[in-house]
Amino acid sequence: MKATARHPGRKIKVTARLKDRHTGEIKDYVYESTNDNIAWQWTEGNYSCDCNRSIAFYGLTLDNKAVLSCSGDENRIELVSLRH
Ligand SMILES: [Zn+2]
Repeated sequence: MKATARHPGRKIKVTARLKDRHTGEIKDYVYESTNDNIAWQWTEGNYSCDCNRSIAFYGLTLDNKAVLSCSGDENRIELVSLRH
């Protein structure tokens, strides 16, 4: 993974490649973020857990229920790679 660069106030295009470990399905979750700590978000932050990763993976909005509940140490949705 790339080291985090700081781009204050700028939108960064992020591509997170995600894999459902149960089905083997792989999807790219592409979004824009002004957050300058993308890698942290995916390793320690909101996107480190199945609850939010499943929303990204299955394309739900935040108004919907997450498909998966919190997983502790064993995420079903795996982060394969992260580009930003
Ligand atoms: Zn969670």
